[in-house]
Amino acid sequence: MSICIGIDLGTTNSEVAVVNDGQPEIVPVEGSSVMPSCVGLDAKRNLIVGTTAKNQMIVRPDATILSIKRKMGESAKVGLGDQKLAPEEISALILKKLKHAAEKYLGEKVDRAVITVPAYFDDAQRKATRNAGILAGLDVARIINEPTAAALAYDANLETDETVLVYDLGGGTFDVSLVVVENGVVEVKASHGDTHLGGDDFDNLLMEHVSGRFQAQYDINLMDDKATRNRLWSAVESGKRQLSNAPYAQIREEFIHGDHHLDLEISRLDYEDMIRPLVQKTMDSVHQCLKDGTMLPGAVDRVILVGGASRTPLVTEMIQNAFRIEPRHEINPDLIVAMGAAIQGGALSGKKTRSILVDITPYTFGTSAVSMHEGDLRPDVFVPIIRRNTPLPVEKSDVFATMIHAQEAVDVQIYQGEAPITDENIFIGNFLIEGLGNVPAGNQIVLNLSLDLNGILQVTAVEKCTGLSKSVRMEIDSDKMTFDLDQAEKNLNAFIDEGAARDDEKGGASTKPDLLSRAKRLRKRVLDLVDHVDETDREELRALVDKSKKAVTSGDDVVLAELNESLSDMLFYLED
Ligand code: AMP
Repeated sequence: MSICIGIDLGTTNSEVAVVNDGQPEIVPVEGSSVMPSCVGLDAKRNLIVGTTAKNQMIVRPDATILSIKRKMGESAKVGLGDQKLAPEEISALILKKLKHAAEKYLGEKVDRAVITVPAYFDDAQRKATRNAGILAGLDVARIINEPTAAALAYDANLETDETVLVYDLGGGTFDVSLVVVENGVVEVKASHGDTHLGGDDFDNLLMEHVSGRFQAQYDINLMDDKATRNRLWSAVESGKRQLSNAPYAQIREEFIHGDHHLDLEISRLDYEDMIRPLVQKTMDSVHQCLKDGTMLPGAVDRVILVGGASRTPLVTEMIQNAFRIEPRHEINPDLIVAMGAAIQGGALSGKKTRSILVDITPYTFGTSAVSMHEGDLRPDVFVPIIRRNTPLPVEKSDVFATMIHAQEAVDVQIYQGEAPITDENIFIGNFLIEGLGNVPAGNQIVLNLSLDLNGILQVTAVEKCTGLSKSVRMEIDSDKMTFDLDQAEKNLNAFIDEGAARDDEKGGASTKPDLLSRAKRLRKRVLDLVDHVDETDREELRALVDKSKKAVTSGDDVVLAELNESLSDMLFYLED
């Protein structure tokens, strides 16, 4: 049977995939996995499709068409140069280019395709999509819903009955669907969304903010001139992407206006405050979709993220709060729909297909911080930085603040696990970053974690105000870590405690984080031991642990330091 490719015909970008050796693969188009859904005429009136067309959009807006998907199913024609074309025809040009890319990649003729459409597309829009396929020389074997394709990518053979929520936030549109998989049949139960909400709106908010700051500085409005505005957008969009992985981004564009450079820093927290109402709007749609499907959040087994803007961390956070499950993001959200379409195409041409396999981290990695947990301020709250199921390699950072005035050092502790409290996770390693600036509490330390395909974790801590940094490589070997973990942890704790004692003897005052983490380690050692000692010692140990916890809560460092010594003394006699 002839090959059947899968196509995600998107508003901003389109992708094509094929099944090879039982696995869906993305077909590169001019070296890239995504092709802008853009059609144009160049200065010599040659037809251009994809990246070249997108690149000329700024200079030749009248000869360039973007977002034709929004017009599918409408009868009005669209102007391109002095021609008028139907939306189906424009889409056919995009599909033709994808078809040729697939033929080049496979080295054979391609004439069948599965094409995806949003679940909310009506009959006219679906028919227009099918016609576009036919115009491109394709036998459209199936038109399938985008959320169905996304669900197929995770479970190609539909072996598990489950309810999946597909959250799709692209550049210009948002939609959410409730997909039920039952006895190998996929059904979209309900869909909701907003055809004018997406990452572009995040860009607009960021542009307003940045241009406002620039105007305050130079009394120049960057939004006035179209070309300047486009350069501003490009800088802002790249900053926005950085903020998905880092707590700060630098928005830079040289000579953006005369001699003036744009060079501003923006924090993820400020950015999240800006976009929160928009992300909340998507969550309102999510709840409406559940209501339409007569389901409660607890009935959802999986949440799948689709679309470039779903990489925004605030999206994950809000979904997690609503569903108490972590959304799946191990398959690239830009490519998942095309891959699902290819799986469907593979099945139609009689190919056995596996779900998509990607290299992911099966564990969450993070650090320990003083933070609120269930209403209490605790010194040992686990803050995830790289979340489990993230594709490898990965690099993520987050920002932390010192707790005391003129704090000289920070003890960076790295843990692996899913529990909210570090004690219940696996301790990977720690290091001190010393010689911090003499500044008030709140000194920002940016912690960067990168994990490569071989499980090597590189941890870097940077004092933001001075650039002082320390980097440590930690090897992650889960077998080794679980093997005799208790003993290894005891040895390490003893080693660190000895180090702390040596420091004290030298007259160096331990910093607050040192004090807190030493207290925590000592309490853990006591709890490991307390059931194996006689009753008098047990009572004394428990009383000391209680006092230690109270000293942490009340912030009484002197008492805590004394209690650390008492606990350490008792452990010296009681531990074998
Ligand atoms: P799509 O329509 O699915 O191609 O999504 C495009 C949108 O995703 C654009 O607004 C992009 O700026 C946005 N986007 C792509 N990558 C990221 C990222 N890493 N973080 C946040 N937004 C992103």
